[in-house]
Amino acid sequence: MSAVAAPSTAIAGPAWTAATDELVASLRELIRIPSVNPVSADAPDGELRAARLIATWLTEAGLRPEIVEPEPGRGSVHVRLRGDGTGGEPLLLLSHLDVVPAPPDRWTHDPFAADIADGYVYGRGAVDMKAMVAMELGVVRQLAAEARAAGLDPASDPIPGLRRDVLFTCTADEEAGGLAGAKWVAENRPEWLRAAGALNECGGVSATIAGRRLYPIQVAEKGFAAYRIAVRGTWGHGSMPREDNAAVLAAAVIERLAVPGPTRITPVMTRFLAQAAAALPEDAGSLLAALSGDDPARAEAALAVACDPMYARALRALLRDTLSPDVVHAGIKYNVIPGDAIVEVDCRVLPGTTEPGMRAQVLARLGPDLAAACDVELIVFGAPVEAPAEGTLFDLLVSTIREHDPEGIPLPVMAPFATDAKHTATVGTPTYGFSPLRLDPDERFLERFHGVDERVSIEALRWGLPVLYDVVRRFCS
Ligand SMILES: [Zn+2]
Repeated sequence: MSAVAAPSTAIAGPAWTAATDELVASLRELIRIPSVNPVSADAPDGELRAARLIATWLTEAGLRPEIVEPEPGRGSVHVRLRGDGTGGEPLLLLSHLDVVPAPPDRWTHDPFAADIADGYVYGRGAVDMKAMVAMELGVVRQLAAEARAAGLDPASDPIPGLRRDVLFTCTADEEAGGLAGAKWVAENRPEWLRAAGALNECGGVSATIAGRRLYPIQVAEKGFAAYRIAVRGTWGHGSMPREDNAAVLAAAVIERLAVPGPTRITPVMTRFLAQAAAALPEDAGSLLAALSGDDPARAEAALAVACDPMYARALRALLRDTLSPDVVHAGIKYNVIPGDAIVEVDCRVLPGTTEPGMRAQVLARLGPDLAAACDVELIVFGAPVEAPAEGTLFDLLVSTIREHDPEGIPLPVMAPFATDAKHTATVGTPTYGFSPLRLDPDERFLERFHGVDERVSIEALRWGLPVLYDVVRRFCS
């Protein structure tokens, strides 16, 4: 990185206003494409349509995008903007095009109408993650416009001032594991993902705690291990109850799995808690510090006092391996005692926990009595991922947030869930959750993910676009 960085004021206020308007318009068009995953019969090609729409916009900007379609209707799109090649490996702007389903019953706006109300854009994908798609697109459009303004061809000439390439890759299928998206791309088009670093969904979003605006930057993600537990009982007549009714055994299985386990504070969370505690007012800070102590009762009390339940749930999940029994099946008729039951459990593992380690935890919770009646089968495992919480790119994320929000407190954090970062990890690209938004303190951002009335604030996007632009400009200049 050169010492002199191009400031965002290179395109002054009015240009950002127009760019934000364009961003919002693009976001609304993307929301109106129901790129739902799992793919439904009434919208079989939503991801491909979204990929094609983005490709059209990129082409209008003078670029030459590529689309892949590994399975019919499952489209991913990519474009490369060139630097002069003297700055090292590229920077990747990564996103996904698919969204989870949105049963409309409890929404106050049609989830695919992209209504604007009270300063928010409503719709499925508004936060997960079409807003970031539109922000990254906005940065790419701006860079292409700068090339055109200098009389250059952005499809082939280096963008003025860029020393590294910028990759823009939007994938299908993130919400179902990425097999038809980022995983396929990593295996078949690794050059779409291979970079010095990637900016992806979720982090860089303000969270107001005890009156302080924190900006957790996602440098790690928990892994996952899902198990199917087949519970064996004995079939019989419902008139003569049995202790080894498989439904009754399954209830005991669920009860033992669902208890929160012991805490284990990983290095990223140690740093998060220390920095947050130092930044918060005295009382809240010392409560937060208690989370990294070895008294679980004190830690739990601290969570209840210091945090809104939404953040407490997230923090609780980040301090331990978690187990959530999410599927249970038993029984065929009210008067037949079931001899078989199925329980599926979603385990999320901290860095340092292996799949055999997680399985051992599941068996230990069942105990020898219940374990003897259960077969535990692995459904899927994904390892945790980590990127360095130091170095040029991370430091730049921190300094750029501070510059755009002098009261903001950027700090590294882990996400309790997985993203496409597990696939960029396979090609060696450190990936950061960084989709910068400065939110209203009362906005229930974490509850918008996959939730009802998903929405994003237009003012937050207006703040975030120049932040993202500055990061890209500075890292690549
Ligand atoms: Zn997402």
